[in-house]
Amino acid sequence: MSDNMESLKAAISLIIEAGYQIDKDAFELLKDLSQKVNLTSLVKTVIDEINSLSERPIFITRKFIEEKVGKIVLTEEVRGTSYVTGKTGFQPYARGVESDFKVISDPTEKISSIGSLEDCIEYFRSRFKKLSRIIRSRTDAKDAGSISDALKASENSKVKFICMVTEKRETKRGVFFRVEDLEDYAIIFVPAEKHEVYLKAQKILLDQVICISALRGKNDLLIVEDIVWPDVPLKKHNRAPIPICAALLSDLHVGSKMFMEKEFKRFVRWLRGEIGGDKLRELAGRVKYLIIAGDVVDGVGIYPQQYDELEIKDLHKQYERAAKELEEIPDYIEIIIIPGNHDATRRALPQPAISREYAKPLLDLGSHLLGDPSVISLYGVTILLSHGRSLDDIIASSPSMSFQSPEEAMKVLLQCRHLAPIYGMRTLIASEKVDHLVIEHVPDIFHAGHVHMMKYTTYRGILVVNSGTWQKQTEYQKEMGHIPNPGIIPVVDLQSFQVFTIDFVSAI
Ligand code: FE
Ligand code: ZN
Repeated sequence: MSDNMESLKAAISLIIEAGYQIDKDAFELLKDLSQKVNLTSLVKTVIDEINSLSERPIFITRKFIEEKVGKIVLTEEVRGTSYVTGKTGFQPYARGVESDFKVISDPTEKISSIGSLEDCIEYFRSRFKKLSRIIRSRTDAKDAGSISDALKASENSKVKFICMVTEKRETKRGVFFRVEDLEDYAIIFVPAEKHEVYLKAQKILLDQVICISALRGKNDLLIVEDIVWPDVPLKKHNRAPIPICAALLSDLHVGSKMFMEKEFKRFVRWLRGEIGGDKLRELAGRVKYLIIAGDVVDGVGIYPQQYDELEIKDLHKQYERAAKELEEIPDYIEIIIIPGNHDATRRALPQPAISREYAKPLLDLGSHLLGDPSVISLYGVTILLSHGRSLDDIIASSPSMSFQSPEEAMKVLLQCRHLAPIYGMRTLIASEKVDHLVIEHVPDIFHAGHVHMMKYTTYRGILVVNSGTWQKQTEYQKEMGHIPNPGIIPVVDLQSFQVFTIDFVSAI
């Protein structure tokens, strides 16, 4: 059985277990969706939504799934129309409308770190303070105190406090954590027999800031009863007033022998209205923004055997070539670019925008270069942009995660309200005085890349997109058994939040 069939089966079981049934149309929709999104998380969202209704239906209908889950519409609907070439009659809607693009935050000008130990302490203080503030805004954590209050409490009393996890040790009896706040530390214990909280404990990452409800035990040991993540609140999300679209891209890796030039050119021709059926061309005409979430080029000297895999071995020339590819994009489309770990800027997060020395050809095109992470607003819709370097660490630390489902790891970042929760793994973090990696602004869309796997989902109303890649499978990925899905582009309608995924390898 294929992976898709497996996930479809699992999704149906979830629905039945939750006490619902689905009709034929809904089943067909799920079958289609199984190829594009993580069905398990999608179905869980649908079940959560339906459970929260005062009058619960017996059947989950197609309409319900479409409405509740960010109105996901698939390529199939724009496919299958007649294939035309030539520019005849292409009148792009986006050309006639004015751009509404704002930068809400960009670390580029604020970066200061030179990286002393003192800075490191200050960095963690900033992280702790910012995340405490976020946790305290939750109704279930408002009354949280400090670790020292908890330790002063009398035996068997209930305590609640906010802390950062500094050590984690799993034993047969349960999980032990060493936790800290700004003044004190404590050892907390989650007994294995407390099933629900034990499951939560297993998901806790090092350096995460969380809220603990516990029972004051003997010998300064605190027995955990519940764990609360900062998480994102459910809120009403912004929508653009007009049906304008953004194409989300990442990981072009121009300069690599595996860069998919032919397919990328096909994408640009589509934007120009030169290829595609009527519906696809109509969609192309509504694209006003093209966002690249890092790894524009493959870079030089990024990993040991890279040299042999480079088509262009000079970093300046790689950017010149990237600009050449982007040059053909219609000029009413605004291009927004943040760096990735392959780009020409400092490697540690937060990253300033790609350095001007290399980026000149991109700047000459009029593209906007921002740092990682940045928050932008397009017609009032806010988008959190980050390359997603830490997704590697999240996936490596959690047995239930995989490179095939980067959107699940992105959800973890939202739950932690931090773009690189674990310190000291593969993600380099610069000790800035202020932690720019805390997700302070709850976005409407969260866009990352890095994993080379186009997948998207909706989490608490936020559209979570990993935008895939334009690079074929590399030798390294082959060794790791990671199969990317390159050349598939998600296009988001910023008014309806429909996501159109267009496959430039086979579909168009
Ligand atoms: Fe990449
Ligand atoms: Zn990357």
